[in-house]
Amino acid sequence: MSENGELKRIELPYSVTVRELSEILQISPIEVIKNLMANGVMANINQEVDFDTAAIVAAEMGFDASPLVVEEESLEDTAEIPLWRQWIADEDPKNLQVRPPVVGILGHVDHGKTSLLDAIRQTDVAGGEAGGITQHIGAYQVKHNERLISFIDTPGHAAFTAMRARGAQGADIVVLVVAADDGVMPQTREAISHAKAAKVPIVVALNKMDRPNAAPDQVKQQLAEVDLVPDEWDGDTLVVPISAKEKTGLDDLLEAILLVADNNEILANPNGRVFGTVIEASHERGRGAMATFLVQNGALKIGDAVVAGQTCGKIKAMFDYKGETIAKAPPSVPVSVMGMDEIPAAGELFRVAKSTKAAREIVERRKQLVADRKAAASGGMTLEQLFARVQAGEAQELRLIIKADVQGSLEPIVSSLNDMNVEGIGVNILHADTGSIGENDVMLASTSDAIIIGFNTQPDAAARRMSETEGVSIRTYNIIYRLTEDIDKALKGLLEPEKREVTLGRANVLAVFGASRIGKAAGCRVVEGEIRRNARIRVLREEEAIFEGEIASLKRHQDDVREVREGFECGIGLRGFNDFEEGDVIECFTIEEVKVI
Ligand code: GDP
Repeated sequence: MSENGELKRIELPYSVTVRELSEILQISPIEVIKNLMANGVMANINQEVDFDTAAIVAAEMGFDASPLVVEEESLEDTAEIPLWRQWIADEDPKNLQVRPPVVGILGHVDHGKTSLLDAIRQTDVAGGEAGGITQHIGAYQVKHNERLISFIDTPGHAAFTAMRARGAQGADIVVLVVAADDGVMPQTREAISHAKAAKVPIVVALNKMDRPNAAPDQVKQQLAEVDLVPDEWDGDTLVVPISAKEKTGLDDLLEAILLVADNNEILANPNGRVFGTVIEASHERGRGAMATFLVQNGALKIGDAVVAGQTCGKIKAMFDYKGETIAKAPPSVPVSVMGMDEIPAAGELFRVAKSTKAAREIVERRKQLVADRKAAASGGMTLEQLFARVQAGEAQELRLIIKADVQGSLEPIVSSLNDMNVEGIGVNILHADTGSIGENDVMLASTSDAIIIGFNTQPDAAARRMSETEGVSIRTYNIIYRLTEDIDKALKGLLEPEKREVTLGRANVLAVFGASRIGKAAGCRVVEGEIRRNARIRVLREEEAIFEGEIASLKRHQDDVREVREGFECGIGLRGFNDFEEGDVIECFTIEEVKVI
C-alpha cells in the first residue's frame, strides 16, 4: 500500500502465469501461490490464472488492478468508415502507394451477380492461360490494361446475407448489378444502402442487355430516383450496359472500375502494419481451418501471428486464387491461409500481431470483453445506449433503418426525421423501404450500428432471432408522432431509460355528452385492448396528442367500472379536459419500469 493508504495501481493481462504475476507484483511466487490457496485456487508456478483471480491476489498485496490494454485499438469495426480504412489513414502519407481496387458485387437476386463474376473470371489474363483454372477461395484478381483488380466472389450460400453486408465494407468499389429487364428491386435498394453506409462508390452494371425486353432508359430513370444519376445525364454514377451471358461490355465495366479507382485514391502502405478483411473461412479435411484473407495494408507472410476477431493463429501456408503457394501477399491480394486455430467469421478484420503470445492475449481480452458486454447488454443496442454514444462523442448521428407498411407512411416519416437536428446531432437514415423487417435489415443495422424502426410492420421470425444474437434493437410504432417523439427525445437525451410505455388499449370517441358534475364526458367504443380506470390516458386528434392525463370517471350504463374491454361502449370523463370531439381517440397506457443497463 502507498504511504497515504491508497491502493497502488497496476495493470494485469487477462491471463497471467503465477510466475509472471509474482514478477509484476514483485513478491515471491511462493507468496502468490499461498495467497491463491487461501482463496481456494490451487496453482503451480507455471499455471495461468485469469484476471479476476489475479486481481484478488493483487488486492491483498495492496494493488488496485485494472485490465492491461495490450494494444490501443477498438474492438469493433462499427465506425462510419470501416476500421481498416481508418488504419490506412493513420499511415504516414509519404509511405502510401496506389494499390489495386477491391470490388464487391451486389444486387438483387437473379440479376446476374454470379454470372458476372464467372464471366469476368473467364476473361482473366492474370490467371495466365485463357480461362485459367482458378481455385474458389472467395476472391480473385484479373488484369485489365496491365492493372490488377481484385473481386470479392462470395457465392450464394447461407452466410451470404452477412457477407453482402460486410462485402461492401471490405470493398473499395461496389459494382451494383441491375438487370435491364427488371430494374431497381428491393435488394438493389438494400445494396445501395450498404454501399452508402460504408461510403463506397458504386458503378452500375446494367446486365442482361441481350434480353429483348431490356429497357435501359427506364432503369436509368429508376436509378436516378434512388440518387444514382447516370453520368450521361450529368450525374456522377457510371452505368455500363453489359451482358454477362454474351460477355459483352465487360471491358467497359473494368474500364469504369479503374476510372472510379483513379478518382478515389485507393492506397496502402505495402511496408506498413499488416491487416485486412476475412472474406470467407471453412474447415477443410486434412488442412484444418482455412481462411481467405484480403490484405489491405502491409504484406502478409508465412510465419506471421494473426488475430481475426476472437480467433488467432500462425500462418503455416498461403495459397493464391490459382491455388499456388505464395510466401508473401501484398495489399489487395486475396490469399487462402492455413494455420488459424479456429474458423474466423467472414467480414472480420484480421491483423498481424507481434507474436503468437501477443495474439493469444488479444483474443483472450476480446473474449472477455464480449462476455462482459453480453452480461451487461441484455436487449442489445437501445436508443438510450445509442444516445449515450452520441453524447460520448463516439457517434455524431443516430443511424436508423426505417421499414413501413406502405410508401404513403414511409415518406412523411422519412421527411420529418430528416429534418431533425439537435445541437448538431442529426438522424441518418441508412435505408428506408416498405415491407416487413427482414434479416437483411438486421444485418445492415448490425454492421452499421443502427437501430431499426418499424411503422405498422413487424420483424419476421428470422429477423427477430438475428436481432437477438446480433444485439440489434428493433422498435415498432403505429403512430407517427410517437415515433418522431422518441427519436426527438433520443436526440435531446431526454429518454428515460428506466421507463417504457405499454399501450393497454384504445377507444374511439363516438359522441360528446353535456356537462355533468365533473365536466364533459365522451361516449366511446373500445376498439383495441382495454381502458382501465386507474391507468394514464392520452387524447389523440388526427394522430396528434392533444392531452395527456388521468381518467376522472369510467362508466358502463351509469355504473362506475374499473375496466372496459374491446368491443364494449363506455363513458369516459377526464380530469382537466373537456374539449372532446367526435373522432378523437383515447389511448390508455401504463408506464412500465424497464431495467436498461
Ligand atoms: P444472381 O442471383 O444475381 O447471382 O444471378 P445469376 O448469375 O445466378 O443469374 C440469374 C439468371 O439470369 C441465370 O439463369 C443466368 O443464366 C441469367 N443471366 C445472368 N446474366 C444474364 C445475361 O446477361 N443475359 C441473360 N439473358 N441472362 C442472364
